[in-house]
Amino acid sequence: MIKNRIENIRVKLPANSAALFTNEADCFYLSGFNKSEGMVLITGNTACLFVDFRYIEAAKAACKDMDVKLTGAFLKDIYEVLKNENIKTVFIEGDSVTVKEAETIKSVFSGIEVSTELGIDKIVRDMRAVKDEGEISLIKSAQAITDRAFSYIQTKIAVGKTEREIALDLEFFMRGEGSEGVAFDTIAVSGKNSSKPHGVPGDKKIADGDFLTLDFGAIVGGYRSDMTRTVAIGTPSDKMLTVYNTVLKAQTEAIKAIEPGISCFDVDKVARDIINGAGFEGCFGHGLGHSVGIDIHENPSFNTRCKDLTKPGMVITVEPGIYLENEFGVRIEDMIVVTENGCEVLTKSERSLIIL
Ligand code: ZN
Ligand code: ZN
Repeated sequence: MIKNRIENIRVKLPANSAALFTNEADCFYLSGFNKSEGMVLITGNTACLFVDFRYIEAAKAACKDMDVKLTGAFLKDIYEVLKNENIKTVFIEGDSVTVKEAETIKSVFSGIEVSTELGIDKIVRDMRAVKDEGEISLIKSAQAITDRAFSYIQTKIAVGKTEREIALDLEFFMRGEGSEGVAFDTIAVSGKNSSKPHGVPGDKKIADGDFLTLDFGAIVGGYRSDMTRTVAIGTPSDKMLTVYNTVLKAQTEAIKAIEPGISCFDVDKVARDIINGAGFEGCFGHGLGHSVGIDIHENPSFNTRCKDLTKPGMVITVEPGIYLENEFGVRIEDMIVVTENGCEVLTKSERSLIIL
């Protein structure tokens, strides 16, 4: 697994060149060691994770197929390896190295060209987009915790509780079930607040007649989950039911359309056309979904700009929403994995409206 990933990078390297990865998620993906401020160097002969003293013991235990070197001065030690191997060009990740860091790298690697030309960030992100069985199994475990948390929280939601209390309760439950942290900042927004797609849970108390939108996820083995449900507190109005059922239909039809080789744009369009056709044009102002893995937002994404084609192994969310300013909002989000014939929905929670 790790060996294949290293080899996939290595075959793309021109003679006498090296790839230096500094993005934390990419370093985890390539080395197998999560959570470090390390750097991964891949050359024709070397595949090595450089870490400092704080991480060396854990890194040695985690890295089965990559060398681990203790360093107190990352770039100087890496420069020694480059000189010994007669490297002429080092490729770095243009999208995650700051201008200042690039200048430092250039000044330490004297006599060696430092370049972003090869696009090593794009190469590794394309690899990360297609999850292997081990990665999918971790994402499924994270999603199973998230589904259990949704069942649990339904027994705790009550008129008079604040959004913040609900968010905290969800997070506490997920940690107790083995989540390594929250996959992203938990969203719990009710009533008028639910019209803000990424509203922040606050002191607002849940009231009779509210919609409550919960968007949350867990982490297992460094891999994340992401789900959203909107539930009704008390009796929903006819308008609330119409909006909910429109979002549900958009999501159901988009999931049905997913198969290998379909353009991400076309999947987004299925949901968007249903929402616009129901008279809610302008009320679905975000993309239909995003890939999930080590990071919560990965590529490709289902949106109006992404023309990438889906491939088996991609794990992507399907999360249409309708947001009516100063009234309420509804979003329903599941994670799917693209399979050889279509897709498998990883989120097991009920999708039709739950009235509490
Ligand atoms: Zn979400
Ligand atoms: Zn999402």
